[in-house]
Amino acid sequence: MKIAFIGLGNMGAPMAVNLKNAGHEVVGFDTVAKPEGLSMAQSAAEAACGADVVITMLPNGKILRPVADQVIPAMAAGAVLCDCSTVDVDSAKAVAAQAEAAGLGSLDAPVSGGTVGATNGTLTFMVGGGDAAFATVAPLFEIMGQKAVHCGAAGAGQSAKICNNMILGVTMIATCEAFALADKLGLDRQKMFDVVSTSSGYSWSMNAYCPAPGVGPQSPSDNGYKPGFAAELMLKDLRLSQQAAESADADTPMGKAAAELYRRFVEDEDGLGMDFSAMLPRFETRGHE
Ligand code: NAD
Repeated sequence: MKIAFIGLGNMGAPMAVNLKNAGHEVVGFDTVAKPEGLSMAQSAAEAACGADVVITMLPNGKILRPVADQVIPAMAAGAVLCDCSTVDVDSAKAVAAQAEAAGLGSLDAPVSGGTVGATNGTLTFMVGGGDAAFATVAPLFEIMGQKAVHCGAAGAGQSAKICNNMILGVTMIATCEAFALADKLGLDRQKMFDVVSTSSGYSWSMNAYCPAPGVGPQSPSDNGYKPGFAAELMLKDLRLSQQAAESADADTPMGKAAAELYRRFVEDEDGLGMDFSAMLPRFETRGHE
């Protein structure tokens, strides 16, 4: 296939390289990044011209919308615009409507798996959009990832992503505050892990990504809380969940509390650049409020 890849940062560059290495014709565009080994166009529209699939991997919806304004008129009828960025649900739906009005297929397909998954081709894609567009892009998801779940109509991929990450933010905070409480109660951290990881308090945060160094499987806590998944990226996703909750009139008190805690951690404290599991040392240093 002829593929345009717009946004070649930490995630986009390795994803584009995997598509090229699998034998597809890839033309990239990025306002800043110039990754080695990829043919680059002078503009997003030039990259999109004649492409079967245009993939975007951009920082947010504010950036996605003007990029969509540029590429949609340049795309050939029947081509598919596939946004893999994490953006707000409203932007995802607006871009899909714009693409469909222009006779194009459209997917919102945010990912989970981070830069390691992008490099190794083991991402999970959560996809919203039509069946025909999904069928067109499915072989590319197979190259870039290990799993693609077609979640429903336009916006469903972003909805699944932010709901998942809202659960993740909340359970990570709960796991960290419970460890800090257990410390103060004199419980050994390994014993705490042994009990919770096999009891009803278990979760991915405890079992697969334990925030306590030296306990459970290898995780960023064993590497000085170097990300991994940075606290500011968790804050971005929690803000998107709150934006969606407001827009859909949903009551999400735990998500709201998690967004405020990560905001304080990233903006007022020393959480910027730390893994999101560094909430544990944060709680360790604090007393009852
Ligand atoms: P990044 O900042 O490394 O890359 C974004 C790229 O977009 C940059 O190279 C930037 O120059 C480029 N860009 C910005 N404006 C542009 C424009 N108008 N035209 C063309 N290019 C433009 O970010 P990333 O880590 O690659 O993340 C990309 C997306 O994936 C984000 O939405 C993020 O939330 C999501 N995501 C990231 C991770 C992760 O671990 N990094 C995990 C899951 C999802």
